[in-house]
Amino acid sequence: MLVPEPGALTPLEHITPSIYEASIHCTAKAAWYALGGRSVLPENPAAMLGSAFHSVMAAAHRGELMVANEADRNPARRHFDESARALYLQAHPLIKLKFPTLERLPYYNVQRERAALLAARIASSRSWSAGPPVMTSNAAPRPLQTEFRLSSTDGLIVGRADHVDGESQTVVDYKSGYIGEADTDAVSDSEARQLRLYAYLAAENGVNVSKGAIVRRDGQRCELAISRADAEIEANSARRRLHEINAAIREGVRFDGLASPSSQSCRGCPCIALCDSFWAEANPVWQSDCGSHVEGCVSGAQTRQILGVSLTTLALGVQRGTVSGERLSAEQIPSDWMTLGSGSLPQAGDVIRVVYGRVFGAGEGAVVIRIDKTLTSVWRVPPEGEGGR
Ligand code: SF4
Repeated sequence: MLVPEPGALTPLEHITPSIYEASIHCTAKAAWYALGGRSVLPENPAAMLGSAFHSVMAAAHRGELMVANEADRNPARRHFDESARALYLQAHPLIKLKFPTLERLPYYNVQRERAALLAARIASSRSWSAGPPVMTSNAAPRPLQTEFRLSSTDGLIVGRADHVDGESQTVVDYKSGYIGEADTDAVSDSEARQLRLYAYLAAENGVNVSKGAIVRRDGQRCELAISRADAEIEANSARRRLHEINAAIREGVRFDGLASPSSQSCRGCPCIALCDSFWAEANPVWQSDCGSHVEGCVSGAQTRQILGVSLTTLALGVQRGTVSGERLSAEQIPSDWMTLGSGSLPQAGDVIRVVYGRVFGAGEGAVVIRIDKTLTSVWRVPPEGEGGR
């Protein structure tokens, strides 16, 4: 696969909680979340299953899961399958090559069952069909809202809260667990920012919210008090971020110019393969925080059939990245991962990037790196003039 171009950036019409969160660490990452495509770079499959998880929770709150009782999980399972399938169809070809069917995505059944367990509980506890009316501050009846797209009155902030409960003045967000925040029994800083923005959006739409709740995949719930002032401060901060991103884009700043590489901001970023700023700054000290990524020049390639699978080992002269050492052996990479899109394997003299590999020790003077089936991808950097980089 050839390293793709980041593409032209156009001003954002609005900011969402996830774009806002990304912008706190790196404006380029935020722009990618806003404008990039699922099909350009492979997404972590856990994110895909996380989206399906959210969709099931929202459907349960909306009363769309017709369950007979709390033990009836089949409607939630069906909803999870449909939601995940829609996302899978849009996924990058490498994801479909690695996981030829939806059900083979890592932890598919575990996440599906976690979603079904929670959703069946929510659905069976609902005693209404379309949501009971609740009284807002201006005494107008208003239904509970779930997973509706909420917009600020100026249209600059939009978001889709998993559930806004006007009766208990609570905004609820479900976490499927892939985010990996350190404390599961407390609302993290990033979760708090997200909840405050949802609270602001709810208020802008006539629903008073005084607290936010995070519900983790095991059902554990953590709450956070949110005042109207807290919500407005966060919303103003999000508007400032939107203004800064758009000002830079209008000035013609390109993707790399917006990037703020660091071991923290680049952790888990899907853009590493194409982010030249990352490669300019990354060093081995970053490895423990943001993983093993290497750019190097191919000095040799050896392909073997093992149990009917074509696997290629590449010898590299290390140029840049988070892996220390001058020589590296990237071992037993499925050949079709590398021929996807280009049709040919890397050859001596090619510069390639291996992202999200796993360092496996050192052998014969070279660092050995192996693949992580879920996350690793291998990219060829087009020479000057071939790909325009
Ligand atoms: S790799 Fe790092 S610098 Fe590049 S877009 Fe991602 S977070 Fe920003």
